[in-house]
Amino acid sequence: MSVLVVGSMAIDSVETPFGKREDALGGSATYFSTAASLLTDVRLVAVIGGDFPEKHVDSLKTRAIDLSGLERIPNGKTFFWAGKYGANLNEAQTLDTQLNVFADFHPKLPEHYRDTDFVFLANIHPRLQLEVLEQVKKPKLVALDTMNLWINIERPALLDVLKRVDLLMINEGEARLLSGEHNIVKAARAIRAMGPKILVIKRGEYGALYFDAESVFFAPAYPLESVFDPTGAGDTFAGGVMGYLSRTGKTDRGTFQQAIVMGCVLGSFTVEEFSNDRLLRATKSEVQERFARFRELTHFQELTDLT
Ligand code: AMP
Repeated sequence: MSVLVVGSMAIDSVETPFGKREDALGGSATYFSTAASLLTDVRLVAVIGGDFPEKHVDSLKTRAIDLSGLERIPNGKTFFWAGKYGANLNEAQTLDTQLNVFADFHPKLPEHYRDTDFVFLANIHPRLQLEVLEQVKKPKLVALDTMNLWINIERPALLDVLKRVDLLMINEGEARLLSGEHNIVKAARAIRAMGPKILVIKRGEYGALYFDAESVFFAPAYPLESVFDPTGAGDTFAGGVMGYLSRTGKTDRGTFQQAIVMGCVLGSFTVEEFSNDRLLRATKSEVQERFARFRELTHFQELTDLT
């Protein structure tokens, strides 16, 4: 099976307490596809400008990523994002966003992308997310990401998309903003009533929560000694989740639980270095090893009878 992603490819400028990098490869579709391609075939739709370094395209070509949906506008500039992290590595402060070629972008799916079973609508304008849904045939599962910006300024369009997706993956702050509820369990109930049957709330270094109609599941973040740059952790997480679901072709609860752990495992590589540098070097056996460590981390014996 394969997974389709529509999102940003970007040039980022990132500052963390440990260093600064200009002209880094970034973007939601970049992180997502680097992660998911460790597990399944990826079909990517994004737009870049003439300034986008060819070496970045080449690095994605080394993976199982179909780039026929990547549009290059030779006389345009690539989407640019500048962000900074303080001591709280869970939340980026956006310093600058330049839409550039994204401003006039309308996703066009190559014909052979239309029957993809697993679809990920990364964080872009909700109207563009709707345009993608108009072009896909009958996906098995559609997942969505969004951000504060769209919740604040494009709420009606976002509510339209939400009615049409199966899975929403957002962070804790976004869940509170979208639902108007501070308590995360109440927020989850309110958001699920907006459309998505399944909700995953990402909590940075505190892991991720899964909610469906009957159950809740929690996965912690992988305990790392050095978190260097959290940029892209969320998109990498989504790539791990969707990549794993697509690899297995299943969407039952047990598979979802493994998929969420896979999201946390792949996210742990991304945050170790700037950009997608570490994730690009992660091998399948390293992924397998961290997944196994996760089981040890979260397994404990049943309680003996207290009475
Ligand atoms: P994450 O840390 O997973 O939430 O995502 C970080 C990536 O999102 C960065 O590489 C940015 O280039 C990208 N990004 C930031 N703001 C936007 C936006 N408004 N639209 C699309 N992509 C964005």
